[in-house]
Amino acid sequence: MDKVKVARTIVEITGDEMAQVIWELVRERIIDPVLQIPLDSYDLSLPNRELTGDAVTSEAAAAILEHGVAVKCSTITPDKARAEEYGLTHLWRSPNGTLRKALDGVIFREPVIIESIEPLVPHWQAPIVIARHANADQYQATDFSVPGAGTLTLNYAPADGGETIIREVAEFGPDGGVALGMYNNTDSIATFARACFSFALNANYPVYLSTKNTVLKAYDGLFTEVFETVFAKEFSEAFAERELTYEHRLIDDMVAYAIKSSGGFLWALKNYDGDVQADIVAQGFGSPGLMGSVLATADGRIQLSEAAHGTVARHYRRHRAGDRVSTNPIATILAWGRALEHRAKLDEDAVLLAVAGDLRRAVAGTVDAGIVTDDLVSLSAVATTGSSTQEFIDAVASRFHRMVAGHRV
Ligand code: NAD
Repeated sequence: MDKVKVARTIVEITGDEMAQVIWELVRERIIDPVLQIPLDSYDLSLPNRELTGDAVTSEAAAAILEHGVAVKCSTITPDKARAEEYGLTHLWRSPNGTLRKALDGVIFREPVIIESIEPLVPHWQAPIVIARHANADQYQATDFSVPGAGTLTLNYAPADGGETIIREVAEFGPDGGVALGMYNNTDSIATFARACFSFALNANYPVYLSTKNTVLKAYDGLFTEVFETVFAKEFSEAFAERELTYEHRLIDDMVAYAIKSSGGFLWALKNYDGDVQADIVAQGFGSPGLMGSVLATADGRIQLSEAAHGTVARHYRRHRAGDRVSTNPIATILAWGRALEHRAKLDEDAVLLAVAGDLRRAVAGTVDAGIVTDDLVSLSAVATTGSSTQEFIDAVASRFHRMVAGHRV
């Protein structure tokens, strides 16, 4: 059987542990038998990052910028224990952090919805896509303990020598307390807004931004103002054409709405709010194996897709001991699906677009036929027992290959 030929390069980034085991199975059993893809591959496993002094991560970032489409396996971000386990000379930075910086991109978390899988929040019937503004706020704040009585002030000295702004923040009593200085940048908020609107347009979602601008009038006020301006100037017409909307909501309002809603929207959140709500939404949809992650640039042209979960170290230890493992590979398979879809859209390749759709339908069809990994058994309306990772991948592969063959008769 002739393979479907992909015309232009996809950047492949391999990784660590169970995620890498799944990766190889997905390539070998699902992708390679029917697709001929010009791959530009980078090994971001921890041993290779150590070997190359992490140069391989920067090389991968450059390749993503060049080719525009990438798919990534989960990788270990080393802590002290991992440094010992792998005999590292450095605590290498998170590859995802390096790639995000290089692309100046935004990470979108998108759950997979499958008919026979009931989410923990049962009325969430469509994805809630979480977009977290991963810049500054609490994560680059300066905080300290205030030891006793005294005055706390904020002081801003303009670079051009203009008038200094001084604000008194608090007058402390003898017991002291705590203090925090926090900031954000207008250009970063604007990039975030653009990335959110581009992603939503591409995926056909309305957009909500949540803040607490009734309390932080200047701080959160800047977020609402920048979103409003970027939307009005650059996106309102395209949104109107698609009958999509943009709305700001107070964070408390929005949290209540998200729980009551049936999903189907993109939720733009400030850094800390996004950190918290991403986990609430991930849990509400059922399993980490169902959560995808896309790093996209503000114009939406460059996309890196991956599973949102980590390297699933606990399962890897069982795999290495030769025990049966049932790690859910859906998010990994669909990361390939998203990369193929993005490649197809950039290249206006209708056949490849159909094949990417087939991959999504093959996964859904397999799950709806009652073939699932252990984590989904209790959420499935039809499955009674769980399959191993390999059995599940093989079931998806045979469905997918039949569908792809159908395109070429
Ligand atoms: P993890 O997401 O790998 O696993 C946590 C737990 O969630 C697992 O023990 C398992 O019970 C469940 N789980 C996760 N994915 C699953 C799946 N596909 N199927 C079934 N169950 C699943 O998180 P962790 O154990 O905290 O992290 C392991 C490593 O992954 C760490 O070294 C961390 O640095 C790395 N990590 C990488 C990424 C990334 O590359 N995108 C993201 C998160 C964590």
